[in-house]
Amino acid sequence: MVDKVLDDGRVTPIWQFRDRKEGVIAEFDLSALKDETKYPYRVQCEQMELNRALYAALGDMPNVEILFGHEAVSALQDADTATVVAKTAEVEQKFTGRYVFGADGARSVIRRALGVKLDGFTYDEKVVQYGTTFDVSAAMPDIAGVSYISDPDEWCVILHLPDYWRVTFSSRDGEPDDVAVRDDIAEARMAAFFGTSGATVALHRNVWSIHQRVGDNFREGRIAIGGDAAHINSPMGGMGMNSGVHDAVNYAEKMGRIWRGEGEDELLDQYTRQRRHVALEDVRLQTFRNTKFIAEKDPEARRASQIEMRTIADDPKAAYGFMMGSSMLAGLRAANALD
Ligand SMILES: Cc1cc2nc3c(=O)[nH]c(=O)nc-3n(C[C@H](O)[C@H](O)[C@H](O)COP(=O)(O)OP(=O)(O)OC[C@H]3O[C@@H](n4cnc5c(N)ncnc54)[C@H](O)[C@@H]3O)c2cc1C
Repeated sequence: MVDKVLDDGRVTPIWQFRDRKEGVIAEFDLSALKDETKYPYRVQCEQMELNRALYAALGDMPNVEILFGHEAVSALQDADTATVVAKTAEVEQKFTGRYVFGADGARSVIRRALGVKLDGFTYDEKVVQYGTTFDVSAAMPDIAGVSYISDPDEWCVILHLPDYWRVTFSSRDGEPDDVAVRDDIAEARMAAFFGTSGATVALHRNVWSIHQRVGDNFREGRIAIGGDAAHINSPMGGMGMNSGVHDAVNYAEKMGRIWRGEGEDELLDQYTRQRRHVALEDVRLQTFRNTKFIAEKDPEARRASQIEMRTIADDPKAAYGFMMGSSMLAGLRAANALD
């Protein structure tokens, strides 16, 4: 499974904070974490490739059944069982077991069924993503495979995927989503940013709302939630899906113990404590900082955060600590140590 993701993705050890005019402000080489993890790098892999790999892996398991075309519409529980009600084009069906885990994304029906509130806020600006085969490294020769480029007027995030580059801008004031994704608009914006024509957007174009929200609870009785169903954050830092995967690993380990009779349902409260802690104290704060870094308009605040990043990057010990945070290793370990 991991090998498949490594094959389908682009291994990227170095990432940068940049200023659009000045260039590199701070560069971090994750290879420094080689004693902390077997995987001291980021992997730029499409989520659909991860889904394909998961589908193949689950398909090999005799106790797994994958049902498409079923929309969960509610969830209920009693002292001994938990049930998901799902409808297909033809019928409504109930699926009952001992526990339910809701991983049904930001608009989660399971979260709503539990009455969990997603506390936080939504940014005024959306983000606009363009996928391009234009060679960004020809226009910016020293660019890393992951770069957060700050600018008061036109910030940008650039990611190098295996076969293309993904370029993310802020939505422009008053520009409707269907205009932002038009070919002529996308190409003009890319040409202005890279200072060259030919930066065509042959691949995808998307507009996303951006939130910082965490559920006030991740578990009620026999039903728990994880991933975007439980917390949604700004994509600056690449932590959303990753923290959802960490939720799943944490929950599965605890459910395994409950299933084997080695622990009680209270373990699911520990799941909530540990994973809410990461969402609130780690992912939320880091992605908020990253979003502020690239989008800050106030010149003094911009200067201060650039100096801070430079100082960290120039000091190997501080850079190490910073990368332990940005790779989510430090937050994960701190949360996993919570009772
Ligand atoms: C612009 C942008 C860039 C991002 N970049 C990164 C990144 O670089 N790295 C990273 O880690 N994260 C990133 N993220 C975040 C990441 O996309 C999400 O955190 C991740 O997709 C959440 O996964 P999930 O499985 O919890 O939810 P989802 O991906 O939303 O999946 C939920 C699934 O449940 C299904 N579903 C929903 N409702 C129902 C229902 N009622 N019944 C049945 N099925 C249902 C959906 O069809 C879907 O298949 C980014 C997000 C955005 C917006």
